[in-house]
Amino acid sequence: MYKAFLIKYGEIGVKGKNRHLFEDALCKQIRNSLKRVEGDFSVTKENGRVYVEALSDYDYEDALKAIQSVFGIVGICPMIQVEDEGFDELAKVVVGHIKETYPDKKITFKVDARRARKNYPLNSMEINMKMGEKILEAFEEQGMRVDVHHPDIFVNIEIRSKINIYSQEIKGMGGMPVGTNGKAMLLLSGGIDSPVAGYMAAKRGVTIDAVYFHAPPYTSERAKQKVIDLARLVSRYTGSIALNVVNFTDIQLYIYEKCPHDELTIIMKRFMYRIAQALAEKSGALALVTGESIGQVSSQTLQSLAVINEVAVMPVIRPLVSFDKQEIIDISEAIGTYETSIQPFEDCCTTFVAKHPVTKPNSKVIHKSEEKLSEKIDELVKTALETVETIIVE
Ligand code: ATP
Ligand code: MG
Repeated sequence: MYKAFLIKYGEIGVKGKNRHLFEDALCKQIRNSLKRVEGDFSVTKENGRVYVEALSDYDYEDALKAIQSVFGIVGICPMIQVEDEGFDELAKVVVGHIKETYPDKKITFKVDARRARKNYPLNSMEINMKMGEKILEAFEEQGMRVDVHHPDIFVNIEIRSKINIYSQEIKGMGGMPVGTNGKAMLLLSGGIDSPVAGYMAAKRGVTIDAVYFHAPPYTSERAKQKVIDLARLVSRYTGSIALNVVNFTDIQLYIYEKCPHDELTIIMKRFMYRIAQALAEKSGALALVTGESIGQVSSQTLQSLAVINEVAVMPVIRPLVSFDKQEIIDISEAIGTYETSIQPFEDCCTTFVAKHPVTKPNSKVIHKSEEKLSEKIDELVKTALETVETIIVE
C-alpha cells in the first residue's frame, strides 16, 4: 500500500546554512541503509522535507527497519502517493486508507491539508472541510468523530506534483546524521561496552573509525573475527567503518617482561591510547571513543582513568561514563550487539591480567615503570603502526 515515506528530522542544528549539510548527510545515510533492502529507492529532499520513494516492489518491514536505523530521524510517515485525478478520486483513496489502517473506528481525527501547488482547484481550508465530510460519511456510524484540538490522528494531505496522504508516524532514533560532526577513533574490543559507546558517539553525527588491539596467539583468530562481526553490527548505524587491527603482542610481552604485573593493565591502556591517537591523526579523526565507565573494573576507577588519560592529547569521549552495566546491556540488546559480545572469546587484556591489579595507580610510579621500556618500546610502537591491517567493514 505504501510506496513512499516522509522523513521528519529534528530541527536542532538544522538552522541556516547548515541545513543542506544536515539534509545531504541524512539522505546519504538513508540511501546507505536501504542498500541492505531488496528493491530500488529514491531518496530526495524537497522544500525542507526528505522523501523516500520505492521505485520497485520492496519489503515494507525491511525498508522501515533500515530507515529506523538512521540517526537524525525523529519520525517516519508511511505515505500513499497518488496522481491528481480529481477530488472525488482522492477522497476514495483517503477513506480506503483509514478503513485499512484503523480497524477500530472509535477515534477522533482532523484533516490537515497543505498545498505546495497553488493551482489545485480547492484551497487548504476547503480540502479540510470537504474531506472531513467524506470521512464522516463513511465512518461516523462506527463512532469516528472530528476533534480539531487533540485528535487521535491527523489525516495529512499534501498537494504537490503528486498527492501525498499519511496519518501515521513511526518513531525514529533521533540524534544527528552520521557525517555532520567530524570523525572519531573508537577503541573497539570484543566486549559489551565499546560497541555501545561507538553507537552512542555516532548518534551525535560522528563518523566512526575503529581500532582493535589483537595479540596473537594469546588472542585467537576467532576473537578477531568477533570484533569484525561487532564492527559490522555497529556499521548498520554508522555506515562503513575502517577497522584498524593492531598487532599488540610484542608490546604486551615487552611490558609483561619489564613492568610490575599489577600495573600491566594501566600501562597497556596507555599504549593503546597512544597508538589509537597516532592512527586517529593519520585518518583525520579528532577524538578517541572508549567504552569506559567509572568504577566498572580496576582500570576504570577514577584514579586509573586519570592516569591512563595523561597520555591523551585528543579529547577522549566516554559515552558510557556514568552508565550501570545493566543499562549498557539493555542498549546492547536493543541495538543488536549483545549476542555477539557475549560469545566467549578471550580478549587481549584477560590473557595478561594480574590477580590483583592496582586500583589507585600513582602517576609517578607508572612513569618510572614506563622508563624501563625505553630501550625497545619506540621501535615496537613504530612496527605496530607500520603493520596495521585495515579492514573496511560495512
Ligand atoms: P568492553 O566491554 O568494551 O570490552 P570492558 O568492560 O571489557 O570493555 P576494558 O577491557 O577495561 O573494559 O576496556 C575498556 C575500554 O578500553 C573498552 O571499552 C575499549 O574501548 C578499550 N579496549 C580494551 N581492550 C581493547 C582492545 N583489545 N582493543 C581495542 N580497544 C580496547
Ligand atoms: Mg574488554
